[in-house]
Amino acid sequence: LPALPPDRLPGLILDWYDRHRRDLPWRMAPGVPSDPYRVWVSEIMLQQVRVETVRRYYGPFVERWPSVEALAAAPVEEVLRHWSGMGRYARAFNLHAAARLVLERHGGRLPDEEEALRALPGVGPYTAAAVLAIAFGRAATPVDGNFERVFARLFALRDPLPAARGEIRRLAATLTPGERPGDYVQAVMDLGATVCVPRRPRCGDCPWRDACDARALGLQDALPAGTAKGPRPRRHAVAFLARRGGRVLLRRRPPRGLLAGMLDLPATAMRDRAWRRAEALPDAPFDAAWRRVRGTVRHALSNFDVEVAVMAAEADGGIPENGADLWIEPQDAGREALSTLARKLLAHAAAKGRPKAAR
Ligand code: SF4
Repeated sequence: LPALPPDRLPGLILDWYDRHRRDLPWRMAPGVPSDPYRVWVSEIMLQQVRVETVRRYYGPFVERWPSVEALAAAPVEEVLRHWSGMGRYARAFNLHAAARLVLERHGGRLPDEEEALRALPGVGPYTAAAVLAIAFGRAATPVDGNFERVFARLFALRDPLPAARGEIRRLAATLTPGERPGDYVQAVMDLGATVCVPRRPRCGDCPWRDACDARALGLQDALPAGTAKGPRPRRHAVAFLARRGGRVLLRRRPPRGLLAGMLDLPATAMRDRAWRRAEALPDAPFDAAWRRVRGTVRHALSNFDVEVAVMAAEADGGIPENGADLWIEPQDAGREALSTLARKLLAHAAAKGRPKAAR
């Protein structure tokens, strides 16, 4: 088995990081202190979203709202509009609510204590540890999927995930150094993203190759064990595309829950079975000759996929008032805080042309 002492590991990966670190817009140049606000925004954006996607949104966001104060003063609808397209909108809601709390409770300075950070909406153990390490130089260890993979291999932990998670966290935390902890955690993140990748890790390029138990045992492709995922659950919904004089009807979703606060097409609930026409129609925004648009739209949400059928109608008479409703020109949709699903539904309805006869 490899004989490198564990205390050599942080130095090895930090040297590697100094030469190979990814150039990301939220990273400071070496030696330049990080702005806690920017670190926090980037970590919230990066939750379950690809780095390449976050790259596009991060710059314009912090340019528009460069501080806690600026973000707290912004109308939430505007924040959602900027977030639109990145998905998982509850994060934007939480970020905005948290900015107001930071202003109120901490005078606009992000707290540097785990408990106070975790008291903010949207900040869990991972984000708190990432902010503590990267923004405040604390020896905290944010363990995400990259960390789990790297450490399951480094220590050749054969228990399958998620059971092995506790042991991985414990072992990972033993290595986090007191010197440059922020660079260290970003180095592990980079190692997992570029070298110790899920399939065919590039061990020859790895700074920990001489310390890695999985490599010594030829297990690097087999670990971590038990990460195979079953099929994602699928849910069904029917959305209603109401047109009036060239405009379409959108409805703002409630401020809490799935796609909170976003504009969406009026729709049924999401459920496990497909909807029959007669079951869906009571949820239509008004009585009309609703006709089914050909095909369906599939969309991946955080924990499940949804398949949405579209029913379309022209509004010709009086329509019940609903304070959450808004009629917009389809070409103006890009300027609104529209969910990605709503954008897909509008594009689908436009591409499929005339609705087919009612079933
Ligand atoms: S040697 Fe290979 S398996 Fe081990 S940590 Fe490095 S890339 Fe991952």
